[in-house]
Amino acid sequence: MLTAALALAATALPAQNAPATHSRRAAAILNDIRYLASDSLDGRLTGSPQNDSAAAYLARRFKRLGLKPGGDAGGYLQHWTVNSTSGTREAAVANHATENVVGILPGSDRRLAGQDVVIGAHFDHLGNGPFGSAAHGDSVHLIHHGADDNASGTAGVLEIARILSSRRPHPARTIVFVLFSGEEEGALGSAWYADHPAIPMDSTLAMLNLDMVGRMRDNRLLVLGALSATEWQPLLDSVDAPYHLDVHASGNGWGPSDQNSFYAKQRPVLHFFTDLHTDYHAPADTWDKINADGIETVAQLVADMARRLAARRGPLTFVNAAPPVMASGDRAYLGSIPDMTSEPGGVKLSGVSAGSPADSGGMRAGDVITAIGADSVASLADMQNALVKHHPGDRVDIKVRRGDQTITLSVTLGRRR
Ligand SMILES: [Zn+2]
Repeated sequence: MLTAALALAATALPAQNAPATHSRRAAAILNDIRYLASDSLDGRLTGSPQNDSAAAYLARRFKRLGLKPGGDAGGYLQHWTVNSTSGTREAAVANHATENVVGILPGSDRRLAGQDVVIGAHFDHLGNGPFGSAAHGDSVHLIHHGADDNASGTAGVLEIARILSSRRPHPARTIVFVLFSGEEEGALGSAWYADHPAIPMDSTLAMLNLDMVGRMRDNRLLVLGALSATEWQPLLDSVDAPYHLDVHASGNGWGPSDQNSFYAKQRPVLHFFTDLHTDYHAPADTWDKINADGIETVAQLVADMARRLAARRGPLTFVNAAPPVMASGDRAYLGSIPDMTSEPGGVKLSGVSAGSPADSGGMRAGDVITAIGADSVASLADMQNALVKHHPGDRVDIKVRRGDQTITLSVTLGRRR
């Protein structure tokens, strides 16, 4: 997931205990993650030899699963180069060549096989920092293993490919599996794919994104983008029926991950996500903290969703939304940790980062933010839009509901790394 999320959420939820995997499938999923998040792959920084090694491994996995190559020149790899731009986000990897990995499961219904559903996840991460790191002190230069972010989603996509390719008949429409590079620098790989798709975008029904699905707690699954098509909510209710997950579906299709690139092409999208945690973008995001059983369940649910989409009569009803206000220049940092499942009417905090502006300003877990400066805040999007109007060092009044009181706190915003 992109560092954009950091503006709202630094870190602080309790980490999961070490994994106890229960099924053979979960063990296989964990095996992929263990390799991708190993020291030898050095954090899979876009454009690095280790990122290339990960791509080659994933191409071999697609081949073994019987997927058809969907990349360049009859292979699985889709090559692209990071544009050299002035933004600090891309500076470390500018002009580096990298690749997405594309595998295709052709549709079994001849009339529908020219249309597809894209299932994707990014496999790159932050290398050895420091760009994008949420760690403190010298730790920003350690290997950022990216087990949850996003070896988890990558392994999940491999599992979905296994499920869908092993059951006959294959889905009616074509399923295109894409593992993206360049996500951490701004969802670049998915943007490249969306401009150079295996099947034209106007024949793509939907994009399902798995980004950070490795830390499921209490059966809770967040599904972002649920407002990008009118049919999503009933479809989600129906595919979840056998799994009884605690599904929190919300939000339009704009977001800090690869679904954004498809929503920008007017495609309905979903982003499956098991929420933030203290190891987000830190070296401690390691394989031993992964809930592989949780990933297995997410993979089954997404595979069921893909089958439904692949078989339905017509397209989904796309719902457009205005793009969020983008921050430019130095960005203000608050350090509050929103409860991503919080209900409308404000943004409830599950905590504040120690020593952050939110902490120093007196905000605490359980507070519900209802206004920042002159802007009222009813949702995470409102909060982001309000924050980008301010600059590091600004002193702003933040209104929070605490218990049955509403109080105003004066907070000096910090600077985001
Ligand atoms: Zn990330």
